[in-house]
Amino acid sequence: MEEQEKSLNFIEQIVEKDLAEGVNDGRIQTRFPPEPNGYLHIGHVKAICMDFGIAEKYNGVCNLRFDDTNPAKEDTEYVETIERDIAWLGFKWGQIYYASDYFQQLYDLAIQFIKAGKAYVDEQTAEQIAEQKGTPTEPGVASPYRDRPIEENLRLFEAMQRGEIEEGKMVLRAKIDMGNPNMHFRDPIMYRIITSHPHHRTGRKWNVYPMYDFAHGQSDYFEGVTHSICTLEFEVHRPLYDYFLDQITGENFCGLSPYGPNYRPKQREFNRLNITYTVMSKRKMLQLVKEGLVAGWDDPRMPTVCGLRRRGYTAQAIRTFMDKIGYTKVEGMIDQGLLEHTIREDLKETAPRVCAIFDPVKLVITNYEGEGETIIAENIDGHEELGTREMKFGKELWIERGDFLEEADNKFYRLSPGGREVRLKASYIIQATGCEKDADGNITTVYATYDPNSKSGTEGGNRKTKATINWVECNSALDAEVRLYDRLFAVENPSAEEGDFRDLLNPDSLKVVTAKVEGSLAKAKMQDHFQFLKQGYFVVDDDSTPEHLVFNRTCSLKDNYLK
Ligand code: ATP
Ligand code: MG
Repeated sequence: MEEQEKSLNFIEQIVEKDLAEGVNDGRIQTRFPPEPNGYLHIGHVKAICMDFGIAEKYNGVCNLRFDDTNPAKEDTEYVETIERDIAWLGFKWGQIYYASDYFQQLYDLAIQFIKAGKAYVDEQTAEQIAEQKGTPTEPGVASPYRDRPIEENLRLFEAMQRGEIEEGKMVLRAKIDMGNPNMHFRDPIMYRIITSHPHHRTGRKWNVYPMYDFAHGQSDYFEGVTHSICTLEFEVHRPLYDYFLDQITGENFCGLSPYGPNYRPKQREFNRLNITYTVMSKRKMLQLVKEGLVAGWDDPRMPTVCGLRRRGYTAQAIRTFMDKIGYTKVEGMIDQGLLEHTIREDLKETAPRVCAIFDPVKLVITNYEGEGETIIAENIDGHEELGTREMKFGKELWIERGDFLEEADNKFYRLSPGGREVRLKASYIIQATGCEKDADGNITTVYATYDPNSKSGTEGGNRKTKATINWVECNSALDAEVRLYDRLFAVENPSAEEGDFRDLLNPDSLKVVTAKVEGSLAKAKMQDHFQFLKQGYFVVDDDSTPEHLVFNRTCSLKDNYLK
């Protein structure tokens, strides 16, 4: 389909209108502004695809800006993983900026606000300030410190920065309007004291740190961002974003932007991504990691980018998923089945097929006399162009225990003594003749005979059977640890339930089996994808070595989403 025929999302429409009107001299600049206090999750990817996507599509630039204004929660570890994850997704940023680069400018601006009578130091507790906020229908109550003389505000704010005031004892508030129907205008906090933690970049240089509302818009402005795109919960903050910018742009031009008095960033909001059977709050994810309820941020059950990668999701499938769900102004919940459907569709076309036997029982072909032979099987049935692999065949094979029944009715088409013919995948037709059991009655060996003239790919290979079963030749088989992952939570929307979200974890989200797999998998490399026939799609785990193969289940074969 032609690119132009795809309809524009509402942000693209805004951008095209701005371009047509020459807003900001036709410049397009976006940013992705993660707080380095956790790993990126698939919700962030929705924002990443928007921010980087707009820049790519309209010849602009998208920068990476770490919103690092809270040293108590942030760390360099997170900065590094965020960069790595964005690169893995296939996006390229222009510059890397940090909100902490602007601490001096922001501090100087705060001083100007104080001098202009537009900010004051409040000595009340956080609780008192919250109590005075009022409600959407009732105005707030003014702080007793609201009308402090400018000189006193200056002196106290400077003392706050020098580390002379204890954390929590004072804040700097914007003096705006305690009666404003938008609660965010009721003298929002601009600065707070944090002395308990050093900053991961600026160390102990600062004792006061700007709040989101005072830092974000100004950072956009210093960098020259034109379209500041974020999620809908910030829509109510937009007037405050504009208020602070009004104070420093246009006729109040403060000289801190390289683009002059007429340049102005604009905030735009789209709907967040929420997905069923998972949580996407960094706080909750951190709790799962810290308490060992998952194996780490990159546990394949986590909705993080590194978790999805380890689960076997490709960057392309994740980006395709974002295209499918699109961008609107309506909040909702996306079925996790759609995400699974997207990776399944991707792997269906690309993942080579191999045999892996999860619950093995030995099959002995009593009339097979040869030393063994090599069978050439297509990687994907019917797609010769996608290559072939070699499978060893011989007298003793592993098959699935469930593919043999000692006594079966005529609805069971697989192996059972009594004459029914079954094809071994890509090779011969066999008939079961009997089995051997241990003292407890468990079947230890299944016996069968084969028809030497029935080999697939030969003339006799066209003979049809009602069932085909998978097998792996015993001498060449490898043992593999196979991790069968399922959804992390047992309920659709864990965040909406009463009580502790940790009680809602799916107890069956991980099962481990030791499978017998084809010897060809010895060559498998980290992140290689396979379809284990009849079992699902699997990826080579980061822990895998040639001596100890480990595979993760990406998704099952069955697609519930299409129903
Ligand atoms: P949390 O609240 O879990 O800490 P956050 O939203 O504060 O997450 P940030 O690092 O501040 O995380 O987010 C960076 C950007 O990613 C923001 O622009 C935010 O709007 C966007 N983002 C975060 N979560 C989602 C989501 N679920 N869907 C879409 N965009 C998101
Ligand atoms: Mg945030």
